[in-house]
Amino acid sequence: MNSEITIMIVDDSTTMRKIARHHLTKLGYDKIIEATNGMEGLKKLDEGKIDLIICDWNMPEMNGLQFLHALREKNKKIPVIMLTTINTQEEVMAALEAGATSYVTKPFSLNDLKDKIEEVID
Ligand SMILES: [Mg+2]
Repeated sequence: MNSEITIMIVDDSTTMRKIARHHLTKLGYDKIIEATNGMEGLKKLDEGKIDLIICDWNMPEMNGLQFLHALREKNKKIPVIMLTTINTQEEVMAALEAGATSYVTKPFSLNDLKDKIEEVID
C-alpha cells in the first residue's frame, strides 16, 4: 500500500536526501522523487503526481518557506512535512502559517518520520 504513494524530498543536502530516501525505502515507500531546492521542486510537481512532500528549510534558489507559499498558490491539499534544524517556535509557526501540514526536527529517526507521515496521510 505504501508503494502507491509518491513522495518528493526537497533538500539541498545530498546527505539529507540520502538519509530520507533510506528511511522511506525502509518504510516501504519506493516511489521517491528528489529535488535540490524549491524551484526544482515546483518543476517536478508539474511533471507528475506527488502525494507527499518532505521539504527542507534552508536551500539556495528558493528556500522551504518560499516553496511553501508558491506551492499553496496552486495546490492546497498536498501534505507537506517541513524539516527544521532547530525546533524554534517562530520557524514552526511560520511554516504552519504558510501551509505546512506538519514538521519534523533534524536529526530525525526512522520512527519520527514514520509517525509524521502516518499523521499527514490518510
Ligand atoms: Mg538545507
